[in-house]
Amino acid sequence: MLRFAPSPTGDMHIGNLRVALFNYIVSKQKNEDLIVRIEDTDKERNIEGKDQEILDILALFGIEYSQVIYQSQNVRFHTAMALQLVQEKKAFACFCSPQWLEKKRAQAKENKIAYRYDDACAELPAELVIDNTNPFTIRIKKPQEPIVVKDHIKGEISFAPDDIDSFIIMRQDKTPTYNFACAVDDMLSDVSIVIRGEDHMSNTPKQDHIRNALGYEKKVEYAHLPIILNNEGKKMSKRDDASSVKWLLEEGFLPSAISNYLILIGNKPPCEVFTLEESIEWFELTKISKSPVRFDIDMLRHINNEHLKNLDSKELSRYVGFADDEIGQLAKIYLEEASTTKELKAKIKPIFEEKNIPDEFQEQALLMASTIKSAPYFEEYNDFKNYLMKESGLKGKNFFKPLRILLTGAEHGPDIAEIYKHLKNYIGEIVK
Ligand code: GLU
Repeated sequence: MLRFAPSPTGDMHIGNLRVALFNYIVSKQKNEDLIVRIEDTDKERNIEGKDQEILDILALFGIEYSQVIYQSQNVRFHTAMALQLVQEKKAFACFCSPQWLEKKRAQAKENKIAYRYDDACAELPAELVIDNTNPFTIRIKKPQEPIVVKDHIKGEISFAPDDIDSFIIMRQDKTPTYNFACAVDDMLSDVSIVIRGEDHMSNTPKQDHIRNALGYEKKVEYAHLPIILNNEGKKMSKRDDASSVKWLLEEGFLPSAISNYLILIGNKPPCEVFTLEESIEWFELTKISKSPVRFDIDMLRHINNEHLKNLDSKELSRYVGFADDEIGQLAKIYLEEASTTKELKAKIKPIFEEKNIPDEFQEQALLMASTIKSAPYFEEYNDFKNYLMKESGLKGKNFFKPLRILLTGAEHGPDIAEIYKHLKNYIGEIVK
């Protein structure tokens, strides 16, 4: 079993989408199911509707899964297992107040040492625990031995017991912490490999330690994906528009191109342009680079352009707001100068709208428009052009500029003879 475990706390980040894609690919390769686990136990950070938004994005990208689980529904299991650990003396109730712990933390900072919990409550006598009405957290006792994590991308990393620390697994409000809920849920779902962002690397030994303490024998495999950097070499954050999947879609990048790009970066694929399904054939987790990858929007634009070229013309036409093969073929020509559907729309829509004529061509455009309106239908551009030249008496720039503007709404663009092939049946609509 594989899992994608997003938190419904914000817009889907491209890093999360990359994690979802890799999980999907590997689940297909291993012929194992993929589940989506909505990690909604942190009630304060949840944003209503984000869970559905995540599922909609997965559907749009063709990421299939067998089941959606809401982590909050498992809280009864988390509680039961935390109590089991307490009973077995592998975990303990900690009555240290948040203020007290904060003071200790500040002291450690002052002394320039890493803060660790001092295990003050680890061995409290039973009578001090049983009748104690003060609020408490539950902490798991730190491991005796180092925990070695074997990661498909990062290699082998050993974590010392002190770095794992006796950490909190249940908060004072009786909700599980992220590490506890996650470790238990991965165990309950029989997850074989966890693929997630490298920001979770320091959580991994804690989660392994929790499962070890619960007596779980299966060894969960890991792959932690390097972070994605922006142009300045910093981690891509909410402030970078392109970090949001929603933004990229609104900008006119195709889901197939975004997936292609996210699978391509920091990887060694056999080719540059491919579909998600094709990547299942050759994808290897171990080939993913250990170091961070830089997000390059120009490369994404190039990939998007290639995916747009691969669409059939009817489909392409729908992306620019028509349902017409001819307009699709016209749009293909415009792919010379547009790389997103938004840019394509900005080229195609003005063709059918009222045209803005620059002052210097007003007169010629008026004459040209009336000539076009009285012209018969011409199959060939050359015949159309010759007719207009003869009837209007316009020449050179005074002929070509107004003609182009009247037909396309732009002063520059692809070869007009090529465009005419696809516009000739709409001339009446274009020049009104
Ligand atoms: N919910 C975590 C996140 O969105 C992921 C947890 C995990 O994959 O283990 O970052």
